Amino acid sequence: MKKVTLFWFRRDLRLEDNTALFHALNSGLPVVCLFIFDNQILGKLNNRRDARVLFIHQQLEALNNKLQKSGSGLLTKYGNPAEVWKELCLEYSVDSVYANHDYEPYAATRDSLVRNVLKEHGVELQTFKDHVVYEKDEVMKDDGKPYTVFTPYKNKWMKILDSNPPRTFSSEKNLDHLAQADFGKVIPLQDMGFEDFDFDFPSQTVPEQIIKHYAEKRDLPGISGTSRLSIHLRFGTVSIRKLMAKAIQLESTAWLNELIWRDFYQMILWHFPHVVKSSFKPAYNNIQWRNNESEFEAWCEGRTGYPIVDAGMRELNTTGFMHNRVRMITASFLVKHLLIDWRWGEAYFAEKLLDFDLASNNGGWQWAAGSGCDAAPYFRIFNPYEQTRKFDHQFIYIRKWVPEFDDLSYPRPVVDHAFARNRCLEVFKKALVKE
Ligand code: FAD
Repeated sequence: MKKVTLFWFRRDLRLEDNTALFHALNSGLPVVCLFIFDNQILGKLNNRRDARVLFIHQQLEALNNKLQKSGSGLLTKYGNPAEVWKELCLEYSVDSVYANHDYEPYAATRDSLVRNVLKEHGVELQTFKDHVVYEKDEVMKDDGKPYTVFTPYKNKWMKILDSNPPRTFSSEKNLDHLAQADFGKVIPLQDMGFEDFDFDFPSQTVPEQIIKHYAEKRDLPGISGTSRLSIHLRFGTVSIRKLMAKAIQLESTAWLNELIWRDFYQMILWHFPHVVKSSFKPAYNNIQWRNNESEFEAWCEGRTGYPIVDAGMRELNTTGFMHNRVRMITASFLVKHLLIDWRWGEAYFAEKLLDFDLASNNGGWQWAAGSGCDAAPYFRIFNPYEQTRKFDHQFIYIRKWVPEFDDLSYPRPVVDHAFARNRCLEVFKKALVKE
């Protein structure tokens, strides 16, 4: 059997500027590109019409077409990754395996299991940074500890960008090093128990005007003021390094900042994996949540009687997207007005968001709850009416998603704002402020 290098696609579904793919293609051996549909992840999804699975599938089909043009193709497998790798080591004469880093705790465990399987066959798993600009220990405090506050982290990040800017990797130029073979079609969705359907995903290209005018328009949910690239960043269908270069070229500091927040939360998850289950700040674990189930349902379904909250939840339920300003408002409302555990809201967003990303979602929720590393203080409670006045004063966003908002049929507020504010202050104070 002829020796091959295997390249394993995960959160990096593109051929251009892909770090591990670039190194694989330079390994000197023919490269077989692989994707594994992980039955453990897919098995946990409640919805058989999951648009994220559809998105991945469509991207893999596009990759397969491109690879076939180079006389190769994409090998797809379905199963438990460690088991799949056992079979692959028997099926192919694998010399080494290349993949890009994935910072989630589940992925770290999966990769260490796979590493062990490969080791038994004398094969090395080589992994690279690709998903973020700076990772893990690259942006650290002078005392060698990880940052937990965003602004000093960002300042250090910018300093490192000056002294050690990331390079790009022209993986797309070396496709003649791919293994020449027919790997067939991508496994059909139906074979894995999922439905195929039409869905309008956000575009992968963003008008320069959006990035240029981001600072003025980013907070207005009624207009197209943000890039909508989050699903592409999540699955790596665009290169973060190229976007960073675009932000710099267009002098959009505000947009670059958001890309840095993304690095920040990935770094936090890597260094503080306890955030997945509990508060970053332990005192917040003492909060006595009300966790009223019917109020939670009203929030999920967009019938709280607070138009901006309901609009956000309906946008999420309909499109799988919610504007960032409204993510902050809806999250704050659930946690502070309704006193429902932020983990309930986090799980709901995780199920519905097309761009669901553990690090950013957890970071966003803990920020809203006040329990996160660089979070809003507990006594800062968003007033939904005030937020509407500032960011949707002509009700453009609200009217789009809650057309009946000034009719009699629209529900009365599930709780009075002033009452909820005081109740929240009391409950949070009890948990956080030592007598
Ligand atoms: P733009 O405003 O154009 O920003 C460009 C990119 O920067 C985004 O695509 C995203 O990758 C990154 N980014 C922007 N804001 C943030 C941020 N605050 N934190 C981290 N990265 C950011 N983002 C996710 O990608 N996945 C999530 O699951 C997620 N959950 C969130 C939950 C809550 C409660 C909150 C408050 C925020 C959450 N965010 C999440 C961050 C942010 O809301 C989205 O990234 C953004 O709305 C995506 O829209 P966009 O692509 O138009 O972003």
